[in-house]
This record gives sequence, structure tokens and C-alpha cells, in this order.
Amino acid sequence: MAWDFSTDPDFQEKLDWIRTFVQQEVEPLDTLFPGCEYLPLDDERRKIVDPLKQRVRDQGLWAAHLGPELGGQGFGAVKLTLINEILGRTDWGPIIFGTQAPDTGNAEILARFGTEAQRDRYLAPLLAGEVFSCFSMTEPQGGADPGVFTTRAKRDGDDWIITGSKYWSSNAAVASFFIVVAITNPDVPVHRGATTFLVPAESEGVVIEASHHLFGAHRHEPGHSLVRYERVRVPADAMLGTEGAGFEVAQSRLAGGRLHHAMRSIGVAQKAIDMMAERALSRETKGSSLADKQLVQAAIADSYTELMPFRLAVLHAAWLIDEHGEHAARTDIGALKVLTPKVLQSITLRAIQIHGGLGATEQLPLVDMLMTGIALGLADGPTDVHKMNLARGLLKRYKADDPMWPSQFLGRKIEAARIKYGDLVDAVPAVPAGPPTGP
Ligand SMILES: Cc1cc2nc3c(=O)[nH]c(=O)nc-3n(C[C@H](O)[C@H](O)[C@H](O)COP(=O)(O)OP(=O)(O)OC[C@H]3O[C@@H](n4cnc5c(N)ncnc54)[C@H](O)[C@@H]3O)c2cc1C
Repeated sequence: MAWDFSTDPDFQEKLDWIRTFVQQEVEPLDTLFPGCEYLPLDDERRKIVDPLKQRVRDQGLWAAHLGPELGGQGFGAVKLTLINEILGRTDWGPIIFGTQAPDTGNAEILARFGTEAQRDRYLAPLLAGEVFSCFSMTEPQGGADPGVFTTRAKRDGDDWIITGSKYWSSNAAVASFFIVVAITNPDVPVHRGATTFLVPAESEGVVIEASHHLFGAHRHEPGHSLVRYERVRVPADAMLGTEGAGFEVAQSRLAGGRLHHAMRSIGVAQKAIDMMAERALSRETKGSSLADKQLVQAAIADSYTELMPFRLAVLHAAWLIDEHGEHAARTDIGALKVLTPKVLQSITLRAIQIHGGLGATEQLPLVDMLMTGIALGLADGPTDVHKMNLARGLLKRYKADDPMWPSQFLGRKIEAARIKYGDLVDAVPAVPAGPPTGP
């Protein structure tokens, strides 16, 4: 019997260290340098940020999502969940620990599909926390349906020439390289006709036309860019993975990334509950505290009853990955992709309500947290599409039966029982007579 919800004492010590370190050293950065996590470090920020990153390295906690062969710790997904739920409480946490999106996913595909030369050139500085990267797939005419993608890469001698527009390329404005998904064979379905390329940011023809921001984000954040690739020439060895395997590369990146978002979201939701409880206990109205009001109690209880099973589901998906590999966790990750925005939105909305008007201002982080919930229902594919994919996968586990009388119809069950136990069935009181023969 191997189910076990306990944490090794050694690892619990690390978690305790992370919790204190994040609370005391990292959370103040969110106030000191708001929205600057992805900006190149100037001298002032470097003086503070670099020593904090070094302390994380000294504790053996840097890049906890990666195996030791890539400079990470090889903790596995369950331990990563326990770390990420703490880091999710802050904006700077993932940066200080070298586990920030979208670089984690980009590092993973570079590790999985990159050649040695590509890993040396792109992965090494990414893992060192010295550069940022961008994944450039969605196009202005649509993201949920790759069938509408038109960005093309055409062979020209030994080179490829990339032409087209991409939208929602997060961090393009600060990235040192882009991973671009382009159509290389328009004559086959897009899932077999797209290829992934590594494009240095300084390549001639890469034009950032605009950068858009989620509502409430700081203007100085790099945001999400509309990028024009204007006959961008890259050599043949810029291809990441094989020709036509662009979606395989993209999908392998997205599965892990979706789970990382879910892990961090546990921390965001827990923070909203902490804030809700503190406010409920502190604020008085009509002669007693908010915490004494039954509807406020319901809001706190409802939030906990949403977060608790969500957290267990994330840990279970992580356990599946550790025990049986990522493929075994696909259905669970799909379900969590749908659940993450729902849980975040519902808990943060309640937290806003309980804080009254203050909750809706920029003086508290709650609207920002709600926005994260909204964004996670879109980023990495919209909820609606994930629901459909999830349902399709689940339906494959079943087969059609009698269109008139379902297998659990009492009449059919009596027939089945009669085959097994004969007339004994008729001796049982309250069992109705035989099945109807049809309308
Ligand atoms: C914060 C954030 C960061 C992002 N970062 C990146 C990034 O770094 N790189 C990148 O390439 N992309 C990125 N994206 C883009 C993201 O992947 C797309 O927004 C997403 O795939 C949806 O595409 P779309 O916005 O074009 O919406 P559309 O494809 O226009 O879909 C709009 C809506 O239509 C509905 N819909 C769509 N298809 C179906 C369907 N088959 N059935 C039922 N309903 C459907 C859904 O409600 C959907 O939300 C990011 C998005 C966000 C919000």
C-alpha cells in the first residue's frame, strides 16, 4: 500500500526554509520592483537580486523543475508542487528560484529536442538565469485553432526563411531568442506540417510591432507582443526537433507548463483565503466581526472546499508523473487546465467581495490575482477547447450500448441477476417483475 501523504523530514526542512526565505526576502521585491521581474537587471536591482539567487543555489534549490544533468535538482513533480505552491504567492519567487514561465517550458523542450550545439547556445544561459526566452506560436487570426496559422518557413538553399505574424508572444520584448512554430508543409494537416525554429532576437527581419498588456499590468512589463517575421533567414541547424514535428515539440512543452501553472495557482488561491480570513476577523459590522456572519463563513468554507481537492488533484497528477511518466498524467493535467482558472476566479472573487471596495482597488493584489485566473483560462489554450479534448479522451474509455435501455436500467440488471442466481431473484421482495419488452 504505497499511498502516502507525508513529506520526508529532510525535504520538509527545505520547504520551511523556502517559506521563510520567500516571506522575508522575496515578497518585499514585489513592492520594491513591481512588474520588473522580466526586465534585464540594472545595477540597482542586480545588487539585490543576484545574492538572493545565489542563496537559492547554495541551498540546492535552483531550477527545481529540471533534472541534475541540466543543473536542476531532479526533485520530481510532487516536490516541485510543494515548492511551487510557495513560490506562487509572489511575483518574484519563480525568478529568484529559476522556475519562471515561459522559460521553464522552453528549457524543457530545448533539453528534450535540442542538439548539443543548441543546448550550449540557448539552454545554458537560460538555466543560468541570465536571459529570457519567448515561445511564439499563436497568430493574430487565432490561437485555439492551429489550422488557421499562416506563418511559413520556406527552404532556401541550406537556410530557412520565416515570414508571418505572431501574437501573444509573451516576453518577446526582452527575450534573447524566440521559439517559432511555422508551417513548412502546407499540403498536409497542420499537426504534421509545422516545424519549430530557434530564432535569435537580433535576427534581421524580427519586428516587434506592439506589446499588449493584461488589464492592470504595469506599462514597463514586457507584456505580450505582436511580432512580424519579415523574411527572417535562419540556418538549417536552427530547427528544433525534426521537420514536421512542430506540434509534437509544442505539445510536450505545454503539458508540463500547464501543471506548473496549476502548482503556482494553489499558492495564489491560498493567499486569497489567508487575506479573506484575516479581513473577516479584523473588520466589524453591525456589532460583530465579519467572521461571525454566516454568509462570510460560507465564503471561507466554500473557498477551502474548492482549494483542498484542487491541491490534492495537482499533487496526484504530479505523483502520476513521478511514478509513471508525463503521458500517464495527460488526462489529469487536462482536467487541471480546466479547473485552475475556475478555482482561482471563484476564490479571488470572494476575497474581493469580503474586502469591500478596497478589494477592488490597486492597493491590494486581489484584482491582479483574479486577472491571473482569467488569463489562465486562455493561455496555453482556452478552457472550452480543453473541456472538449478532455471529454473526447474520457469517451474513448467507453463504448456504446443498447440505445433504448441503458446498462444500469433495473430491468436489465434483473435479467443479469436471474442468469447468475436463477429463481432466487424472484424470492427477493420489492424487485419488480421482469423487464418491459419495449414501448
Ligand atoms: C496571458 C497570456 C499569455 C500567452 N502567452 C502566449 C505565448 O507566450 N505564446 C503564444 O504563442 N501564445 C500565447 N498566448 C495565447 C494563447 O495561447 C491564446 O490566447 C489561446 O490559444 C486562444 O487563442 P485566441 O486568443 O486567438 O482565441 P480564439 O482562438 O479566437 O478563441 C476565442 C474563444 O473562442 C472559443 N473557442 C475557440 N475555439 C473553440 C472551440 N473549438 N470550441 C468551442 N469554443 C472555442 C473559446 O471561448 C476561446 O476563448 C497567451 C495568452 C494569454 C492570455
